Amino acid sequence: MLPDKDEKGNYPSHTGPGGYPLVYISQNRKDICAVCASKKRDERDEIVGVVLYWEGMAILCDECGEINLESAYGEIDEENQ
Ligand SMILES: [Zn+2]
Repeated sequence: MLPDKDEKGNYPSHTGPGGYPLVYISQNRKDICAVCASKKRDERDEIVGVVLYWEGMAILCDECGEINLESAYGEIDEENQ
């Protein structure tokens, strides 16, 4: 289930309530930022899902390679717990 696009036809980069970061997943299993997800997509690589990115390293969008997709709680270092 994908979120609604806004009035400009863009997917949100964060959830409305809470402001948690969203990572879009394409048919080819790429991690995609909201900007690229909102662009016209190749029909063989459409957006098929979206996940809330809770924790972990910031990742780069597999498509533009520019926007850091940062997790809500950052990188968890288990050795220091
Ligand atoms: Zn991107």
